[in-house]
Amino acid sequence: MKNQEQKTDPKKTAEQLKGTVTDKTTEAINSMNLEDKIGLERREAYIEPQTRDLLRKLLQDGDKVEIIPIYTPGVGFEYRITGTASNINETDKLSRNTLENLAQLGILQKSFYDSVSICPTCQSTMMTLHNRCPKCKSHNVEKTSLTEHILCGYIDQRNKYIQDRCPKCGEPLGEGQYRNMGRWYICQECGEKFENPEFDLICRNCNKNFTIKEAQLTEIPKFTLNLTRKKEIRQNVTSLENIKTLLTKLDFNVETPGLTIGQKSGMNHHFSLIAKKQIKDQEIFIALDHAVSETEIQPSPLILYIYKISEVKVDVPIFVAMPKLSETARKIAQGHDILIIEGSTEGSEVIIKVKTEIEERINQINQKATTTSKNQQQENKPETTSFFSKLIGGKKRT
Ligand SMILES: [Zn+2]
Ligand SMILES: [Zn+2]
Ligand SMILES: [Zn+2]
Repeated sequence: MKNQEQKTDPKKTAEQLKGTVTDKTTEAINSMNLEDKIGLERREAYIEPQTRDLLRKLLQDGDKVEIIPIYTPGVGFEYRITGTASNINETDKLSRNTLENLAQLGILQKSFYDSVSICPTCQSTMMTLHNRCPKCKSHNVEKTSLTEHILCGYIDQRNKYIQDRCPKCGEPLGEGQYRNMGRWYICQECGEKFENPEFDLICRNCNKNFTIKEAQLTEIPKFTLNLTRKKEIRQNVTSLENIKTLLTKLDFNVETPGLTIGQKSGMNHHFSLIAKKQIKDQEIFIALDHAVSETEIQPSPLILYIYKISEVKVDVPIFVAMPKLSETARKIAQGHDILIIEGSTEGSEVIIKVKTEIEERINQINQKATTTSKNQQQENKPETTSFFSKLIGGKKRT
C-alpha cells in the first residue's frame, strides 16, 4: 500500500493507470444504487467549506431561520441568512445555484416565497414600468383629475381652473357647482383622454421594451434547513472540530477539506481532513474521511477511501463512521491498516484514542528515520545537515 516503487517509465505508467483507474471508478460508481450515489454527493457537499459555514450558521440560529431573497437595486435578488442583516458581508451572500443544489441533495428545503416578472430576453428583474397611450402608444402621458363645471358643462383638468375659475365661462367654482370626475390620463402627443392606460416595461439590463403580458414570471424561492435530516447535518458539520483541534495542538498543519493528488493516477483526491507535519526530514501525513448515515455506513464510502489512500502515502489513515460501519464494511476495514472510529468524535476517549494512535505511528516513523539517518550521516555534507536542522528547529516536539 505504501511507498510502491516505480521502475517503468513513470509518465507512461501514470497514463495507463489513469485509464484503468477511471474505468474502475466509473464502474464502481455505476454499480452503486441511487441512494448511495446521492449519499456520496451529499457527503461531498458537506466537505465544501462554504456549505459547512452556512449549515453551521443555520444550526446555530435555530429551526426557524430562513434564507430569503433580498432585492438589491442594480443587482437583483440575492440570498442571505435572516438575522444577519445588520452586518452584511460580501461573504454572507449565497449563490442561488449553491442553494438549489443543496435543496436537490435534501440538505435544504425549498419553498415558495414570491414570484416576480422578469425580462423575456435576459431574465433580469431590473425594469421600469411605463404608462402608455392606448391610441398612439406614446409614453408622453399625464395623470390628472378632470373637473366638470356643472353650470356651463365644461370639462378640463383640475389645474386648468386657475384661481378656482372656470377657463371657459370665467365664473368662480362655487359650492356644488363643479364635479370631480376622477382620475384620468391625457396623452400629450395625440390629446387622447382615457381612464385606463396601457402599461409596458423596459428592461434596464438589456433595454428591451415589452408589455406586461410578454414579461415572464419566475418563482423566487426561500430555503430552510431540511429538519428531517438535521441530525445528519449536525454530525457532518461539527464532528471533525475536536479532531481538528487536537491535530492543531499537536503542531499539525490542518486542512478541512484537504486536497491531494494521487501519485499514480494524477487525479485530485478530496479528504474530509488532511494534516501534515514535518518531523526531521520526514513529513507525517494524516488523511481522514468521515461518513455519516442515519443507520449504518455501507461499504461504498469506505471503499472510495481505501482507493484514495492507495494512491497517496498516508502515515495515519483515519476513517470516521457515524454512527457505525455495516457488517460488510467492517469486514472490508479489517483487511486494511486503518484507524476506524465509530460513533461520535465528541467524547474525550475518542480524542485520546486518536492522539495515542498518532503518537505511536510518529514514534515508529521517528525510529525508522533515526536508523536511516545514522546510516547516512557519514556521507552527508555539513551544509545539508545544518539546512535540515534549521528546518526542524522551529517544530520541536514536546
Ligand atoms: Zn432584459
Ligand atoms: Zn396618444
Ligand atoms: Zn364654466
